Amino acid sequence: MTQLSRPTATAPLPIQDRFGRIKRKLRISLTDRCNFRCPYCMPERPEFMDRADRLSRVELSRILMLFVGELGVNRLRLTGGEPLLRRDLEGIIEDAQALRPFGLERVSLTTNAALLEKRAPALKAAGVDDLNISLDAMDPTIFAKLSGGRSIKPVLAGIVAARDAGIPVKLNAVIIRGINEGEILPLARYAARENLPLRYIEFMPLDGRGEWTRDRVVPQADILEHLRAEFAVNALPRSNDPAAYYELDDGNEIGIIATVSNPFCASCDRLRITADGSLYPCLFSKNGISLRDPMRNGADDAALSKLIRSTVWNKDAGYAANPGYSDRPIAMNSLGG
Ligand code: SAM
Ligand code: SF4
Repeated sequence: MTQLSRPTATAPLPIQDRFGRIKRKLRISLTDRCNFRCPYCMPERPEFMDRADRLSRVELSRILMLFVGELGVNRLRLTGGEPLLRRDLEGIIEDAQALRPFGLERVSLTTNAALLEKRAPALKAAGVDDLNISLDAMDPTIFAKLSGGRSIKPVLAGIVAARDAGIPVKLNAVIIRGINEGEILPLARYAARENLPLRYIEFMPLDGRGEWTRDRVVPQADILEHLRAEFAVNALPRSNDPAAYYELDDGNEIGIIATVSNPFCASCDRLRITADGSLYPCLFSKNGISLRDPMRNGADDAALSKLIRSTVWNKDAGYAANPGYSDRPIAMNSLGG
């Protein structure tokens, strides 16, 4: 890769929206394709983008340099679709790690882990700082139901392989009423046994099938009630992290991301980019602004920077201001969770 230099000589001017929320975290989806078909995420008949429409490694590197060097972003999460489907993932991680001198602090990855077992050592060598692994159930039948018929075995093997490779792992579980609220305790027991932090996520109204209804959300209060059947649960001080954290009396930490029952929009410091290079200031934004098209048409860094700043400035207040089903035209596999 070419030698990187900051686009301008000055220190980055942090990027913020009109509500004064400074943005430090960027999530980039590397592909909308996935080897799973989670019903709460993927449309029934997904139409995937052409590979040529996806940001290339070189384009990703340029965008990252802008966000870190020029706009003050310091945490990057690579997601998807399933990011392990990208063969150049290790190279993308290496390119991102080259931005540490410009202020980047972490490069994280969110994955379903099904393809992780063999790849964990290479990801560690490339410099990934940590992994969020989605695990919605311990029961193989319920796991299959929530993944579109896939097996839990390679996922559990992937978790072990990541740990053996020395990569810190956190678990994420989406909880849906009538499907896996009975898995809240088995997941907590597994996480404690393996000494892994676990976060439960409320089912968000962004599924590709339009099946979300409010009564299918298991709210934070109900998740806590399930946990209290077996554990003493102590709330930990709240930070500006989207999750509320608790310590269980077995010593393990759990978090709950209560986007629906207790949205954290007021302190949101995140931005998102789709695999084809559209910037979505919010998970619930109706539209994205293409960065890829101006980039492919020869826009310079100053023009791109201006476009990004104005898009982010106009970010909406978020889900808290407009709760309910989101009729956003793209699903979670395109935007990345
Ligand atoms: N394929 C990877 C994975 O599953 O971890 C990364 C992409 S996935 C879209 C990122 C996260 O979004 C996952 O933790 C997934 O559970 C979450 N997610 C997807 N659809 C969701 C929904 N409707 N509500 C809440 N979380 C959702
Ligand atoms: Fe794939 Fe992740 Fe969506 Fe499941 S949640 S379909 S693993 S992108």
